[in-house]
Amino acid sequence: MPKDLAPETYTAQGMHSPDPVTGSLVPAVQPSTTFGRDENYKLIAESHSYARDENPGFLIAERLLAQLEGGEESLLFSSGMSAAGAIVQSLKPGDHVVIPKVMYWGLRNWMVNFCSRWGIELDQYDLADPNDLASTVKAGKTALVWVETPCNPTWDVIDIETAAELAHGAGARLAVDSTVSTPVLTRPIEFGADVVMHSATKYLNGHGDVVAGALVTAKKDDFWGEIRKVRAEGGAILGSFEAWLLQRGMRTLFLRVGHACQSALAIAQYFENHPALESVLYPGLESHPGHEIARKQMLGGFGGMLSLRVKGGEKGALGVIRKCRVFVRATSLGGVESLIEHRYSIEGAASPIPKDLLRLSVGIESVDDLIADLEQALG
Ligand SMILES: *Cc1c(COP(=O)(O)O)cnc(C)c1O
Repeated sequence: MPKDLAPETYTAQGMHSPDPVTGSLVPAVQPSTTFGRDENYKLIAESHSYARDENPGFLIAERLLAQLEGGEESLLFSSGMSAAGAIVQSLKPGDHVVIPKVMYWGLRNWMVNFCSRWGIELDQYDLADPNDLASTVKAGKTALVWVETPCNPTWDVIDIETAAELAHGAGARLAVDSTVSTPVLTRPIEFGADVVMHSATKYLNGHGDVVAGALVTAKKDDFWGEIRKVRAEGGAILGSFEAWLLQRGMRTLFLRVGHACQSALAIAQYFENHPALESVLYPGLESHPGHEIARKQMLGGFGGMLSLRVKGGEKGALGVIRKCRVFVRATSLGGVESLIEHRYSIEGAASPIPKDLLRLSVGIESVDDLIADLEQALG
């Protein structure tokens, strides 16, 4: 493949990798769990021995993602949670971890629980206060700074470059959950991140039919070696068919994300001053506190996710959701169909999410249909 191609090109072509044996443009599903050796007991295909360590069916998606993110290597996992978990499991007891107070709730809960049982110290920083991260990081002690941007479900934006300087100044690594931005909009490694994490369940696959995760590393260092071991020995690997679906879904990543960004911006602008709403949370709006940083680190769009704060509290929000006819009432994000959800109901009483908040994942339908649906539901 020529080296100077645009990301849209090598993504659409799945890294331009026709099968060397059959010439097929579509890769075969590779279900084999084990790989043969020749009469001298050398592996027939170097590096492929047993499917828990290395699966040739992962390679297209892994190489594509590593190239898109500008990293040295990528690894697929069985879910976004297991990908994130592999980073934390590669730390040592006594290490200190810093995470945002508001982030993907399942991961926050898991981290708090896991770190307390593994003797890893954990502190949470307030996203709304730009200085709080600086005062939460401990020089010489913090091993990992976790960033999610834009951050679920308020879409606060964290300055990755500043977070990287703070982390590196303290001797820590910076990990960025870039699920919502995707490499179409933000390449965290270019801003100094050490590891990028994706729930590939969302935009990377994009069709709501695979649970998967991925990590990309800036450098193949010792820490990455530990992460590799966590996957190979812990066994949180993706199934062969899921890996195949993922490489297929990724080929349309740019079209899907581009369309979702345009529609989300149009919806946010249309409803920004709607009388039935307290506010619209979207980094593409000038009124959003993260807009300036988003303009710097989200290139080509502000993402397909936004939230509406509805007048009338929880009752008002649930009333709107009840009336939706085009937006589908379901959790998750980043698929071709638009979803609406009441996060507080999903997260429960301990949730820091406002009860009047509805989270929208904008898909690739006609934006006129989406706007009309919200208009009638709010009316
Ligand atoms: C969904 C999600 C996760 C968890 O990923 P799974 O694939 O569901 O395990 C982590 N972070 C963010 C931002 C997500 O949206």
